[in-house]
Amino acid sequence: MDVGFIGLGLMGRPMALNLIKAGHRVHVWSRRRESMQPLLDAGAGDCASAAEVARHASVTIGMVSDAPDVEQVTLGTDGVADGAGAGHIHIDMSTIAPAAAQSIAARLAERGIVALDAPVSGGESGAIAGTLTIMVGGDADACARVLPLLEAMGKSITRIGEAGAGQVAKACNQIITGVGVASVAEALNFAARSGADGAKVREALLGGFAYSRILENHGQRMLERNFRPGFKAWMHQKDLRIVMDEAHRLGVALPAAAAAAQLFNGMMGCGMGEDDSVAMLKLFERMSGGAGE
Ligand code: NAP
Repeated sequence: MDVGFIGLGLMGRPMALNLIKAGHRVHVWSRRRESMQPLLDAGAGDCASAAEVARHASVTIGMVSDAPDVEQVTLGTDGVADGAGAGHIHIDMSTIAPAAAQSIAARLAERGIVALDAPVSGGESGAIAGTLTIMVGGDADACARVLPLLEAMGKSITRIGEAGAGQVAKACNQIITGVGVASVAEALNFAARSGADGAKVREALLGGFAYSRILENHGQRMLERNFRPGFKAWMHQKDLRIVMDEAHRLGVALPAAAAAAQLFNGMMGCGMGEDDSVAMLKLFERMSGGAGE
């Protein structure tokens, strides 16, 4: 089927490529030409705006940064709403606040567009492998209609509930991964400062109750000092800001997530925003008197 893709960064690029591999005709637009080029090389249709993408396809997918960007590419000038026909479905797969997703869905509905929020977990490697976990909020029929597209990008697809519910699940995911990456960095820095071999510590812990994908994948990257993104630290800081804002609004205590959020703030202050979130290790090293390079 004809499908549009808007936002071709670390995640969007491989997700759109997987749609092409699955046999869909993909029409693309991203702000920078260089982001679009790999898709154009793979045969995607070349569009000059999000509106033009929507004119070519009855379903569009957005994978941009934060809520203002989602607003811009959907409801802004030359956004999806300017090009979409009746019954158009827009799937936003970016991570944004649940309340923002609900508000955007309501305003798109006024323009005759069905919006789904479908944020993902699994990182760049999951996007490349087509094994993302996808958490969907919005109309059940629309979700069923776009399932073949979601299946081309992910292997675990769960409709959580109505508009915004996918983003609630993603916020929960970011609490667990944010605290997780901080705890793995803390433990590996502690091991190093205690004179232990971090690789051996990680190997031993992987066999016990401390096992986690974060210890396995992120722990390995910390040991290799591979801080290339991946998932940029500023994005994780953004996600924990969403989580803390929601907690404030709801009156919910999130002490562990709050500590992780402060650590991400510290990474920003140390100029690590464009590093992968595993660069959290460097922050712990600096807080313990090391160079943290
Ligand atoms: P990224 O590499 O920075 O890519 C973002 C893309 O969005 C870029 O192509 C950018 O265009 C485009 N964009 C941003 N704002 C825009 C705007 N206002 N108008 C038009 N295009 C805009 O980020 P990413 O890592 O792919 O992340 C995308 C989303 O997925 C974020 O919400 C993030 O939280 C979420 N996410 C990321 C990961 C991960 O591991 N990276 C995992 C799960 C979820 P240009 O190319 O022109 O700059």
